[in-house]
Amino acid sequence: MRVGIFGLGLIGGSLGLDLRDRGHRVIGVTRQSETAHLSIAIGATDEAGVEVGRLAGCEVIFLCTPMQALGTGIAAVAAAVGPETILTDVASVKGAVVGPAEALWPRFVGGHPMAGGSEQGITAASRGLFVGRPYVLTPTATTDAVALERVRLLIRELGARLIEMTVEDHDRAVARISHLPVMVSAALLLNLADDQTATRLASSGFYDTTRVGGGNPQLGLAMAQLNREAMLAELASYRAALERLEGAVQTEDWTGLEASLEASRRARVRVFPQKP
Ligand code: NAP
Repeated sequence: MRVGIFGLGLIGGSLGLDLRDRGHRVIGVTRQSETAHLSIAIGATDEAGVEVGRLAGCEVIFLCTPMQALGTGIAAVAAAVGPETILTDVASVKGAVVGPAEALWPRFVGGHPMAGGSEQGITAASRGLFVGRPYVLTPTATTDAVALERVRLLIRELGARLIEMTVEDHDRAVARISHLPVMVSAALLLNLADDQTATRLASSGFYDTTRVGGGNPQLGLAMAQLNREAMLAELASYRAALERLEGAVQTEDWTGLEASLEASRRARVRVFPQKP
């Protein structure tokens, strides 16, 4: 299949690497020609450039720009391809994207791979990023059935775990397991401030708990701006959980604190029976 990728960064580049490995011809379009050249050099695209017209003739196009550039990106791609073309995105928030995209392009399928990393750009692209990871599709009542089936097939080919749900369920769930942790992890890093002594002692535990807070600031900003209500609800719920732990320490309720930590230990085993 001839597959297009618009926006060659961590996610776009990683999709390109795996889709080419599975025998697809991958055409990339991105903002900077240097990135396009690099994508060919690392094997993420067969051909690439900055002219959106290159995408004409692709059966399926993955829209992989940052969320802030997605609206203008979809419009530019839509103006350059035929009506049979299937468009799908990878954005971390679906509510702000899917409605307008479907109104503009009937063969649009909302998507979100639950995989990534703290680096950004084409140099951060990696093979096998999606293998075994959840990849969410958010079809609506008006989603084109043929388009949906075609995108499903590609996701399965990537070795990802296909999960389908509504836009609303997706945005609420990612606020809890992805967007809130970015803020919590950022707060841990901000709390460290310039404490030199603590910095010298920071090791694997602090490394693990601060990974997502050390990621792409533009991505975190877009999560807060575009999924604001759900993020606020999760911040409030998290603050309440933290206050319960604080209350136990304040009142020296060691039995209660131990029970809470035991419950959190069991929750982690339940959520991650094995390393994802
Ligand atoms: P990224 O590494 O910054 O890559 C985005 C690429 O898009 C950039 O390399 C840039 O390429 C290109 N670009 C920027 N503006 C553009 C424009 N106006 N037109 C065309 N290309 C443009 O970002 P990412 O992490 O891959 O994220 C991309 C999307 O994936 C976002 O919607 C994000 O929500 C979603 N996502 C991210 C993760 C994650 O963990 N990072 C996980 C799941 C989903 P140039 O070098 O050419 O400027």
